[in-house]
Amino acid sequence: MGGSPLRILVVGAGIAGLAVARALRLAGFRPDVTERLPPTEHTDTGLYLPGNAARAMRRLDLDGPLRPLGEVIHRQRFLDAAGSPLCEVDLDALWAGVGECRALPRAELHRVLLTGAGGAVRHGAEVSTVEPLPGGVAVGFTDGTGGEYDLVVGADGPRSAVRTLAALGGPPRAAGQVIYRAVVQGGPRVADWTALLGQRAGFLVVPLGAGRLYCCADEAGSVLPADPLARLHELFGHYGGPVPEVLAALETVHVERTEEVELGRWFHGRVLLVGDAAHAVAPTLSQGAAMALEDAVVLAESLRAAGSVDAALIAYESRRRPRTRWVRDRTRDRNRTRDVPPALRDPVLRGRGGRIFGEHYRLLTGPL
Ligand SMILES: Cc1cc2nc3c(=O)[nH]c(=O)nc-3n(C[C@H](O)[C@H](O)[C@H](O)COP(=O)(O)OP(=O)(O)OC[C@H]3O[C@@H](n4cnc5c(N)ncnc54)[C@H](O)[C@@H]3O)c2cc1C
Repeated sequence: MGGSPLRILVVGAGIAGLAVARALRLAGFRPDVTERLPPTEHTDTGLYLPGNAARAMRRLDLDGPLRPLGEVIHRQRFLDAAGSPLCEVDLDALWAGVGECRALPRAELHRVLLTGAGGAVRHGAEVSTVEPLPGGVAVGFTDGTGGEYDLVVGADGPRSAVRTLAALGGPPRAAGQVIYRAVVQGGPRVADWTALLGQRAGFLVVPLGAGRLYCCADEAGSVLPADPLARLHELFGHYGGPVPEVLAALETVHVERTEEVELGRWFHGRVLLVGDAAHAVAPTLSQGAAMALEDAVVLAESLRAAGSVDAALIAYESRRRPRTRWVRDRTRDRNRTRDVPPALRDPVLRGRGGRIFGEHYRLLTGPL
């Protein structure tokens, strides 16, 4: 169907929506993109992209603008809470032939995708109604405007309104962690992705280049603290390694609960969900962006190859399910290891941790 005048609406201009817009444009479609927020800068946090994200960016022909950004990450180091080594993962070996792992400011990936999507996003437009039509969808916006489309792609995140309006599912489920994120300048020198594993809590530091560090800490639970910075000091003040210096350099901390979305189906009529709207998980494996980018590549390929939109949606979901299910299951596996007391867990990780953690990505290093 490539090049046909299909009317496609993409709802949401996050990683998934912009990547879908880019992939569809490359395939000859001209989608409309709507975003409820104004075009302000995104929250200043970091993002770690494993090798399959780089492969998807290559397929979107955006690897050129991505390459100068952030820092290539060659190694994951796991330490205990005191800062003593537990195990390592050689990322160059794990993702050989797939792509480089990279950490960068989230806003920089967003800028690359926005440019790639053609820049034409309608901001401040929130979907309020989604009505099935024979072979299409009527969409209404909160500002009173509306339109008819052959396909609506809900890329509106874990709390997707499209998901509810199209009767594909309800609110997300709490996934069981509170996450603290910050970018620090002038912290300690950290060359690798470095995680300190404690008792039902962990502290991750990743270099973003230009002297910046992305810090992402978590604790089990679902209650957001009144003072996130004070809570971080309380939780991690006794940790070793780079943690004391990172804590000393912290200024602004973003805090949120992790969420999970698990659906029986991803499309209803001509309304499809992609990215976190369809399959959000806790960010333990840092696969959210990669899954969203892969969704975009596979959706465009499915639409181009299939004889009809309906056939394309079936093909799309059957190709994407195994990989997103793998990410969900391995995320849950890894999160369960947080509940094991360090006295039992750490000796196992010292012996086999590198293999265990590398294995969590096995399916993802295979073909898309
Ligand atoms: C704490 C944390 C850390 C993470 N770290 C990583 C990491 O290091 N690496 C990684 O790969 N992933 C990470 N993730 C996951 C990653 O951020 C998500 O998987 C990814 O952002 C999903 O993109 P998305 O476009 O599907 O959703 P979102 O990024 O949520 O984007 C949805 C967009 O839709 C818009 N929208 C919402 N409702 C409407 C509406 N009704 N109408 C119009 N627009 C709407 C929103 O404003 C937003 O712009 C992390 C997630 C969290 C919570």
